Amino acid sequence: MAKRDYYEVLGVNKDASADEIKRAYRRLAMKYHPDKNPDNKDAEAKFKQCAEAYEVLSDADKRRQYDQFGHDGLRGAGMHDFSRMNVDDIFSMFGLDDLFGGMFGGGRGRRAAGRSGPSRGYDLETNVELTLQDIAAGAEKTIEFSRQDLCMECTGSGAAKGSKPATCPTCRGNGQVARGGGFFQMVSTCPQCQGTGQVITHPCSKCQGSGRVPKKRLVSIKVPAGVHEGQGIRVAGEGEPGRSGGPRGDLFCYVRVKPHEYLERNGNDLIAVVPISFTQAALGATIDVPTLDGTQQLKIPAGTQYGSVFRIRGQGLPDIRTRRRGDQLVQVTVETPSRLNEKQEDLLREFAKTENRRVSPKSTSFFEKLKKQFGGS
Ligand SMILES: [Zn+2]
Ligand SMILES: [Zn+2]
Repeated sequence: MAKRDYYEVLGVNKDASADEIKRAYRRLAMKYHPDKNPDNKDAEAKFKQCAEAYEVLSDADKRRQYDQFGHDGLRGAGMHDFSRMNVDDIFSMFGLDDLFGGMFGGGRGRRAAGRSGPSRGYDLETNVELTLQDIAAGAEKTIEFSRQDLCMECTGSGAAKGSKPATCPTCRGNGQVARGGGFFQMVSTCPQCQGTGQVITHPCSKCQGSGRVPKKRLVSIKVPAGVHEGQGIRVAGEGEPGRSGGPRGDLFCYVRVKPHEYLERNGNDLIAVVPISFTQAALGATIDVPTLDGTQQLKIPAGTQYGSVFRIRGQGLPDIRTRRRGDQLVQVTVETPSRLNEKQEDLLREFAKTENRRVSPKSTSFFEKLKKQFGGS
């Protein structure tokens, strides 16, 4: 599954300013907002795609990595897994509650109600690179990634040492504000405290009041044998910390398979393409074939044709569920010698005579004849 270019997703130029990127994202987030496109999976997917692009392009560090190395540059950058997040969470993450509060405020009571209590932290995603040997045997891998963690200076409160968060004056600690009156009152998240009910009067100097700082984290994961490219391995509780004492989110490690020098994967089978000489093809031979554990001998019968496939049973990768190993397939290509010594050429000419086939005349004499006929140097 190829990822689309983030600039293309947001429809901005590579040199777009932070402000242009923000405006582009807002415009598209409005357009594809699920409330405006009910039951439209395509719009929701686009909405999440925009969020992913915005997460990268709105962060100077991630944007630089992306500009330099493309999607690969973001490996281990601690990206949010938008495909698993609900729309409300995506809003609060980018602080877009205000923007949409006015538009959709009436319909989003669920989030407003959920936000005052503890909430689970966001899920993160990263990649784990595996060799075919790792996949054959299963592996234990150490993954390094960065995530937002509680600031130790203020233990996550965001308030400077010796100070305490104060009750939000706008919502008087409710986390919600009501607009309008009577029967059709609209309730939305408090714009001043973003629903927490508290404001920081003296922000912590280390985290600027957010209560969180980016941290590198190492986790060890067990990769089962037989995993496939793109499969996600869930590491429970290694995502971002929750709010108000809520549990951490999860980390999803997506499998990336490192290309092997000689072997290609096809389901649980492995394919090797091995060149043989035309004499080996014609007379039969025992050849060395690359396998996961080194090489193995394979008997090729006389009269083997170009492209023939041989099967070594049980030399493939294990099935992730049944553990049964696939096969290794060996396809042979027949190489035509590009240069023959004199003896070889004579022998082949003799052979051609027995086949009764017309072959080109000996090359040197052919050119000499040409020269004689037309002159020149
Ligand atoms: Zn408030
Ligand atoms: Zn702090």
